[in-house]
Amino acid sequence: MSKLAINGGKSIRKKSWPKWPIVGKEELDLISEVTSSGVWSYNGPKEKEFRRKFADYIGTKYAVCAANGTVTLQMALEALDIGYGDEIIVPGLTWQATASCCVDVNAIPVLVDIEEDSWCIDPVKIKEAITSKTKAIIIVHLYGSNPKINEIIKIAKENNLYLIEDAAHQHGTIINGKKPGSFGDIGSFSFQQSKGLTSGEGGALTTNRKDFAEKLDALRNCGRKPVSLNINIKEEEKGKGYYKEEGNFVHSGNYRITEFQAAILLCQLQRLDEQLKKKEENAIYLNKKFKEIDGIIPMRRDKETQLQAYFNFAFRYGKKYFKNLHVSKFREALSAELGLDIEPCYEPLNNCQLYRPLTKKRYNINPEYFKKINPLKFSLPVCENAYRNESITFHHSALLAEKEDMNDILDAIDKIKENVDELL
Ligand SMILES: *Cc1c(COP(=O)(O)O)cnc(C)c1O
Repeated sequence: MSKLAINGGKSIRKKSWPKWPIVGKEELDLISEVTSSGVWSYNGPKEKEFRRKFADYIGTKYAVCAANGTVTLQMALEALDIGYGDEIIVPGLTWQATASCCVDVNAIPVLVDIEEDSWCIDPVKIKEAITSKTKAIIIVHLYGSNPKINEIIKIAKENNLYLIEDAAHQHGTIINGKKPGSFGDIGSFSFQQSKGLTSGEGGALTTNRKDFAEKLDALRNCGRKPVSLNINIKEEEKGKGYYKEEGNFVHSGNYRITEFQAAILLCQLQRLDEQLKKKEENAIYLNKKFKEIDGIIPMRRDKETQLQAYFNFAFRYGKKYFKNLHVSKFREALSAELGLDIEPCYEPLNNCQLYRPLTKKRYNINPEYFKKINPLKFSLPVCENAYRNESITFHHSALLAEKEDMNDILDAIDKIKENVDELL
């Protein structure tokens, strides 16, 4: 008789996993307050309060809210005056938005390979990819790992390149006392439903540069440049708070968030540190135990990391310790034991179902440009190996369970290993 749950045996996990997102009376009260206030959007008090609190939380002088973490990346490039023909260095393993933002401003995303132990962009490969056209590097703080940030800052400085941080996966990681979103010129965050800080949809940008903050503020608001970034300013006194004179407008669109989103974010931000602490304890426990299991490799954690945030919790698989069982079969078996979605990492962007810039006519500016943005021309062997052979990830909300629930994950791995013959 089969033992493994995928073959009809009893599963290891009997209970359900924590739901995401977590809400309470605070959210309901604040939403109710916004509803009856009649101020539902456009620089309302909740957005202003959240901007201030989020900037303080990340450790930057300024924060600007926007509709999502896709448009924030595009706005970051526009604020840095990046456009047609400029080359942007982007990791080959990330959500498609990190590369799409480049073609959305008619720039060229140059896809660069990753480090095998962190799945984050490889500084050595960054150096190899720099040309006279390179204007910026976008790094991604991916899953529960971080790129070699100090090395990359040095490369950016030496080559006079802007550094943009896509921190959509990591709200609140602490590296040497600083948080992702505060290392580079501009940080980009997503508050989409699945992320570690969420309002369903939403995004924010962080920066220490006043000129960038002003431009970002204008870009989210149909191009209206703010008179002051001091969010305590009374708008009545400042004629709605925007310059009226010629020369103070940039071309843009409406990328604003609503007061409802800002209200939710204010409450979720209050919950964040406690959630991070809990997830961190469980992740550290799992990673420590993983070291004792042949064929399960925790992701790299740098010694400078004081607190690690996780989007998906990721780890690596070595099939030779599982009688050469393919990782996709292993993921299915693990998922069946745990009643939890177990996923591979992102598809490498040189051949990703959701990153197909050549299908969009407006990117066909000329044949030369079209050729340069063709994802297939980039070789990303480390990304491909991670995706095809190694990657195992699950949503961060599972880390909100208790320590004994983590033992279910460990027991499930052991059980699959013991009964691997059933799967061969
Ligand atoms: C989610 C995500 C984005 C995009 O954010 P949305 O709010 O979904 O538009 C960008 N980059 C990364 C790495 C992400 O995970």
